[in-house]
Parts: sequence; structure tokens; C-alpha cells
Amino acid sequence: MFNHNLRNLITGLALALVATSLTAQTDQHFDGKSWWDYVKVLADDNMEGRDTGSPGLARAQAYVIEQLKKDGIQPAGEKGFYQPIKFVSRRMDESQSSLALSSNGKETPLVLGDDAILSTRIDAAPKVDAPLVFAGYGLRIPEMHIDDLAGLDVKGKVLVIFSGSPAELSAALSAHYQSTLQRAKLLKETGALGYIVIPNPASMDIPWERIKLSRLHPSMGYADKSIDESGPAQISVVFNPASAPKLFEGTGHTFDEIAALGKDRKPLPHFPLNLEVHAKQTLIKQNVESSNLIGKIVGSDPKLKNEYVVMSAHLDHLGIGEPINGDKIYNGAMDNGSGSALLLDMAAAIPKLKPKRSVLLIWVTGEEKGLLGSHYFAAHPTVPMKSMVADINTDMFLPIYPMKILTVYGLAESDLGDDVTAAAKKEGVTVQPDPEPLRNLFIRSDQYSFIKDGIPAIAMKVGFEKGSPEEKLNQQWLHDRYHAPSDDLSQPVDLQAAGKYEDIIRDLTLEVANDAKRPEWKPDSFFRRFADQQGK
Ligand SMILES: [Zn+2]
Repeated sequence: MFNHNLRNLITGLALALVATSLTAQTDQHFDGKSWWDYVKVLADDNMEGRDTGSPGLARAQAYVIEQLKKDGIQPAGEKGFYQPIKFVSRRMDESQSSLALSSNGKETPLVLGDDAILSTRIDAAPKVDAPLVFAGYGLRIPEMHIDDLAGLDVKGKVLVIFSGSPAELSAALSAHYQSTLQRAKLLKETGALGYIVIPNPASMDIPWERIKLSRLHPSMGYADKSIDESGPAQISVVFNPASAPKLFEGTGHTFDEIAALGKDRKPLPHFPLNLEVHAKQTLIKQNVESSNLIGKIVGSDPKLKNEYVVMSAHLDHLGIGEPINGDKIYNGAMDNGSGSALLLDMAAAIPKLKPKRSVLLIWVTGEEKGLLGSHYFAAHPTVPMKSMVADINTDMFLPIYPMKILTVYGLAESDLGDDVTAAAKKEGVTVQPDPEPLRNLFIRSDQYSFIKDGIPAIAMKVGFEKGSPEEKLNQQWLHDRYHAPSDDLSQPVDLQAAGKYEDIIRDLTLEVANDAKRPEWKPDSFFRRFADQQGK
């Protein structure tokens, strides 16, 4: 529980009356202990890794609601705190599926898992036979004069794409144009049937051996196809970079050459391949139900209380999967027990600080299946879309070493970047933009579902400087624990860093909730267009 003492609280409230909103909140400090107590419950083996639609996630949700009731948070879902969502899960039946390449009538079968994975993120077609075209990064961005499809005939063909982007693209743009929705748009525009994506070896979070292990875990889509973003894709293959040379044989190009250019974010060539792909895809489908949880802290200002600062975090994780070192429960302590626990700390702390605007707390489901819960909420918001002034998302903020610097995703994009810079400064913490733009983190969590609807959003992590020991720890963590059973309660965490991070998030939230002016996208932000489209 949030560790407050009455004296600090009274001092805090008194100061709030005479000083700026930021001054008041920092009288109290989170100590990381209340946070860790919540993580211990949410990432317990009993929660079975909180897979979307699982009994384990339902138990974790019941626990969250119990805490919200204690804290006096009002329900703001459709059925109390719940916003139910109908999903369809998809799993590839590999015994009834196959993948092969052919050249001049000679067929080379591929080994599913070793050479490539048939992705179930899309509603894959039973049979695909089509020529292949190498489309570089697979990007078409007219305003930047980038067109990886220029001069290529791709209608009825499958695009081979190297994941990444040229250096002239900012992290935000790079992330945006590699999103599912943008890839789907490209297929619609060009009539291409789907894609084979080769992960950039320079920015792979997870080694292939572990990607391969998780391939038979079900993906999910919505039962309601009208909000599905995967578009017309009939096939989506993830190709092992180690097997990628097979794709380039006889083209005059090599995969090593492509990978070297991609590592340095240099422009890539694009050209037809001398190959066809032959895929047989057999999906096993099942109906699944899960829910977002939504609660609200009602604002104290009669005029501003009809506007909302959204705080979001995904509660779902990967559930039970292939065992690694004898452990099959993917507990998701950091991903995202950590952010879910932070929201519980905020639910206990923020009501006492009487924010002027209301605060909406959302624990979304289906994040690990492709941001499904947050996208559903954006399509079916339980408060008017225009009343949401900002989204502050927390996903896997990784307090695994001391907090010296805060990495902010979307730092230069909106006024929220200035707000968080000020909040961090009060804690003696400096901020930096994303040091790893190739990992696309700005679109890889739930803030993106808000950004697409024009709402300024931000996300952050306990940061590291390039070349520091912390960078090594971070990389080691991703390699060993990210989406592995070892992201559990036995890992070392830095409680002080977690507390400091929570102080910053709370102060940022209060600042946004109390500022008479709502945050805006910066005039030169790429993402401003989504707000303009909403007519704000
Ligand atoms: Zn995750």
C-alpha cells in the first residue's frame, strides 16, 4: 500500500493551495515497497502468467478490483469495472501446414520453426502461392520521398521486408510506418498479398531459439472483424535471419550485404527475387472472452472534471507456454506486473491529491496479442474520446538499476515531454529520447492506440546511457528474461528506482490534471495529424 503519513499529507495539501501543483506532491515519496507488494501478487505462480482470456488473468483482475474498491475508485467500464471483449484465438496446426520456396520449378521445403514461422497475428489464408519481391524496408512515405516499392510490380506477390528503417526517419516515424495498420495499408494500395519479414539481427530483442519456442502459442484477433487492423494480408512469415541467405540466391545480392546496410540504417536496394513461396496454412480457431478494467478518480474542479487524464497499463501477459529450464509459467513480473502495480499505487495515492481533472485508470487486456485491448477501448471508449486529454502508459519500466536518467518515448512530440522533463528534474533525474529507435518501442505498447486517435501520449522507462554498464544490464535482461519464464519474482529489482519512477509519474499526472491548458502535439510533430483528423 502507498506509504503516507498524515503530516506530509497535510503539508502537501496546504502547499497545494498556495503554490503550483507540482510543489505539493513531492512531499511524499514512493518507497518501491508498496509497488513490489502488488507485483508479488500479480506475478505469483497462482496467476499462471495472466494470459488473455485465462482464469489466471481473471483472478488478477478480481484482485485489482478488490484494491480499487478499497481505494474508493469508481467503476468506469461497461459492466462495473469490466469492459468485456470477444476475441478469436488462432493457432497454426503445423502438422497440417507447410512452407516452401521454389525457383524454376525446383521446390525447397522450409522447416517451420527453424527456417521460418507462419505468423498467426493475421487471419492467414489456407493456401498462398506467389512470387516474391524484395522490398527493402517495405516503406512508402511520400512526404519523406521514401518509396521502397518504386518501380516494382508487387500486385499478387508477397513482399520480403527487412525490418528497420533508414536513418533519416525519426524513431517515431520509423515506429509508426512499421505498424500493423501501416503495413496493411501498403497491401491495400499495392495489391500485394502479404509479407515475409526478416528481423534485423542488429535489433532483435529475443534470440531466434526463443522466438521459435513461442510460435505455437495462440494469437488473437477480434470476433468483430470491423475493428481488425491486419487488413488484407493472406500470409505473414517471420524468417530466421540465419536462413535468410536462401532468399537472395541468384539475385546478385547477398543477405550479409543487406544486413550490413540495415544495421547502419542505410538505404536498401529493392528488386524481384527469383523465387515463389508456397504456403499451406491450417489454423485452429477458438472463441475467447476477456476484459479491460476501467476505473476513475473524479476530478475536483467543476469545469475540468469532465476531462480525463488516462493512465494505462496492460495486465495480460503470455500465460503458460513452452518450458525453459523446467519453468513453464511466464509470470510477467516486469512485463507488465510492474506497470499494473504502479497503477494500483496511483489508485491509492492520487485521490488524496484532489486532481482537478478526472483520472481514468485502465488495465487493458490483449496487449501481448497486438495491443488488442487498448485498440478496442479506443474504438469503444467509455468516456467521450474528446474528453481524454492525455495518455500516460506504463509498460515494463525496468527498475533493475538505479534511476539516473529517464528514457521518454515521444519526448519531442507533445507538451507531455515538457511536463515529464519538469517532473523528472524535481527528482534530480534528467530525460533523454529513445536511444534505441530500431526497436520501435513508441508503437509497441498501448499508448499507440491513443496516439492514433489524436490523444497526446507518452511512455517512459528507467533509462541508460549508451555504452554504460546499465546498457549491458538492459540488453542482458532482454536476452535472458524478456518474454521468458524468468521474468518472475526471483529477479533482482531496484526498489528505490521504482519509487522514484512512481514519484515522477504521479507528479506528471497531477501536472497534466491540474493545468488549465490541455496538452497538445508540437506543431512539427508527425503525430499531430491524427489530432487534426479528429477535428480537435
Ligand atoms: Zn510483452
